[in-house]
Amino acid sequence: MKGLVIRSTGSWYEVVDENKHVWKCRLRGKFKIKGLKTSNPIAVGDKVLFDIEDETENTGNIFEITQRENYIIRKSVHKTAHGHILAANLDQAVIIVTLNYPRTSLGFLDRFLVSAESFRIPTTIVFNKVDLLSEEEKDYLADLAAMYEEIGYPCAFTSATANIGIDHFAEILKDKTTLISGHSGVGKSTLVNQIAPDLDLKTTEISTFANKGVHTTTFATMFEIADNSYIIDTPGIKELGLIDIEKQELSHFFPEMRAMMGQCKYHNCKHINEPKCAVLEAVSEGEIAESRYSSYLSMMDDDDNRR
Ligand code: GDP
Ligand code: ZN
Repeated sequence: MKGLVIRSTGSWYEVVDENKHVWKCRLRGKFKIKGLKTSNPIAVGDKVLFDIEDETENTGNIFEITQRENYIIRKSVHKTAHGHILAANLDQAVIIVTLNYPRTSLGFLDRFLVSAESFRIPTTIVFNKVDLLSEEEKDYLADLAAMYEEIGYPCAFTSATANIGIDHFAEILKDKTTLISGHSGVGKSTLVNQIAPDLDLKTTEISTFANKGVHTTTFATMFEIADNSYIIDTPGIKELGLIDIEKQELSHFFPEMRAMMGQCKYHNCKHINEPKCAVLEAVSEGEIAESRYSSYLSMMDDDDNRR
């Protein structure tokens, strides 16, 4: 049988078959995925083959995993330990951001975007709670979104409670498998409930992993919100970290800096204080946003490049 892993606890997996029937599966034998050392061999989003063990108990055994299109992995805090795959086969990420209540910092947003770039996952930025914005804040948001759009990140504006932009939000998720992320309280569950009321996500449920401090048992969950449309709720981006990005390469994950590759005087330019640095020139001419550049500097400053 072919199936899709929608939940994992580490010892067993919930697998949905092509008839939408859910099976509780274990792994048969040892799983080794070439070149990848992880503490968990299978993650949410994996496509697997399994045998039925007990039809009435709905149990099965997974014996094969289909090649992943991509995956996101959380590096272990212990340098020697293996990483932990959070999810596989994602089409895109959506980061939900609020200017206020709670405030999402641009540093946090940019870190998320860098991580998504490093996993090659296209990202849309959804600004929620627009009903709470003053006219002045709306103008600020319009400029901010225009800046991100120019870099290549589509933006959307929603209010989950005042019913603004919900159709657009549904359109973004249609026919895709989407990683949804964002601080606790930005409205992730309220937004998803608006487009998939049958799911009836408890506000806590979708945020549990991200914020309850139980970081040792962080497993993502996948929800089918419509035919062929899935969302994956994962731990917060702090958990995701910046995996294996060398400082020398960090600018490659800022698309607007990547576009200038090879234009600095020094080929190994770090774009900090070097003479004839194309990035620094672009910042001073306003072609690269100061907020983006300051996120870059702050990530360069991180001791372990991980938070
Ligand atoms: P989550 O932690 O990201 O899942 O956030 P929730 O969906 O639990 O929402 C947190 C709080 O924000 C709840 O009280 C929601 O009613 C409220 N909320 C969600 N979306 C909006 C919105 O667009 N506007 C306003 N004013 N409140 C919202
Ligand atoms: Zn440079």
